[in-house]
Amino acid sequence: MSMRRGFALAETELRSFDRSDTAHCHVQKPDRYRLIEALPADVQRITRGSGVSYLGASFADNCVVQDLSAFDRLLAFDAERGLLTVEAGARIGDVVRFALGHGWLLPVAPGHPAASVGGCIAADVHGKNPARDGTFRAHVEAIELFDPTSGWLQLDRSHNAERFAACFAGFGIPGLIGKATLRLVQAPAGYSLRSVAVGGLCEAREVLLAHAGAPLLYGWHDGRVGRFGRGVIRFGLESKEPITRPPRLAADLPATIKPWPLCAWNSSGIAAMNRLIGHRYGPGQAHVTIESAMFPLNDARAYYAGFGAEGFVEAQWLLPHAGYAEFVGSLECEVARQRPRISLIASKLFDGTAQGFSFDGKGIALAIQFPQPKTRAQAAFIASLTELALLHGGRPNLIKDSSLQTDAAQRGIPDFAGCRERLRAFDPQHLQGSMLTRRLGL
Ligand SMILES: Cc1cc2nc3c(=O)[nH]c(=O)nc-3n(C[C@H](O)[C@H](O)[C@H](O)COP(=O)(O)OP(=O)(O)OC[C@H]3O[C@@H](n4cnc5c(N)ncnc54)[C@H](O)[C@@H]3O)c2cc1C
Repeated sequence: MSMRRGFALAETELRSFDRSDTAHCHVQKPDRYRLIEALPADVQRITRGSGVSYLGASFADNCVVQDLSAFDRLLAFDAERGLLTVEAGARIGDVVRFALGHGWLLPVAPGHPAASVGGCIAADVHGKNPARDGTFRAHVEAIELFDPTSGWLQLDRSHNAERFAACFAGFGIPGLIGKATLRLVQAPAGYSLRSVAVGGLCEAREVLLAHAGAPLLYGWHDGRVGRFGRGVIRFGLESKEPITRPPRLAADLPATIKPWPLCAWNSSGIAAMNRLIGHRYGPGQAHVTIESAMFPLNDARAYYAGFGAEGFVEAQWLLPHAGYAEFVGSLECEVARQRPRISLIASKLFDGTAQGFSFDGKGIALAIQFPQPKTRAQAAFIASLTELALLHGGRPNLIKDSSLQTDAAQRGIPDFAGCRERLRAFDPQHLQGSMLTRRLGL
């Protein structure tokens, strides 16, 4: 550990959740505001929340990683209006549990309960039904942001409105978020969760559209040849009945998961896992607590460990409705031709408006997970998927897909250059940067 100008920097290696990105980093872990401010204004930096982005969004070599995990307090709660002010390092699972304990709900939460509020803003995450609830930006009232040259700034929809908007899917570029005020909604007693079997990804779209108003709505699908797209759409309706809390809730998914020595997701492993999913989440109905419905991945520790040390890639694309059926048909043909290993496909319905680099718009989002993405056959298929998605008007989720390169991102995000310019206007010296921003030239 080295000491520089009154604060400590640890030299450590950081690795992304999908294990694709790794860097030797200088990490500052401040536990008081004056230590955040103490970093000299000209130092290259990036803010880190909980570090549970799939890829290296919160670190890079040759810059200081400001790890905000110590800033995790819930600061103020207006129980009349459902307004909750938190420090940006507060974990979303803790926020959801606090809100539920007071009869309130944060409608948008990503699948990993450790994700921080700052990370959810900077990635503009989506939750269990983006078509109904939008993305994280819809539930944030105000932000307190630290700019290395100007100091602390108050941002909301009427003060510093452009910078406020830029924080969402800003990937840390507009500055360090110290605090945020979230707007909650009244919580139902629980959810009545149903699963409907679908024979393919086109049928999945029909079922998703038919349940667009449900508070929970997503699908899980098989990616194998001959069974491609088969799976279930799960939708949750608000339950008026009080739900008995199960005696044991699954512990939160850890921020880092030790990989198994070998990759378990070969063809027989994938077959077994799909059978298990079919058995556990097959057609039927269950009354569940909101917490367990919001974080089903708490049960998925073995799934992520099973990718082994080589990790995985999650490519997530939002396909407009018009090109969706043709895209799915072409993708299925390509799967039959190249026979890639796909461990799982997830589907969601979107009905928003794309802003900046946010993953939003109108259509169906498919998240496709690939074990051993660096082997030649897997990499070739991921490249074909990227081309097919772009050909059909797909929009990539920049903060998920570590295989994505600048050219594809530029083709997938209309006005990429303008979005980048608007973001960098708040960081003209390019002080903020991560492996993600460097790879995509943001
Ligand atoms: C298992 C799993 C499930 C997931 N499910 C979903 C999902 O359902 N929906 C979805 O949209 N995403 C999902 N994600 C992605 C994840 O929610 C986002 O990448 C989120 O940003 C992670 O939060 P974090 O605190 O770990 O951020 P980090 O990984 O630490 O950082 C992410 C970005 O936020 C910036 N940042 C973090 N904190 C601050 C701050 N205080 N001020 C300024 N910038 C900051 C970083 O610089 C970086 O650019 C999932 C990820 C995993 C691993």
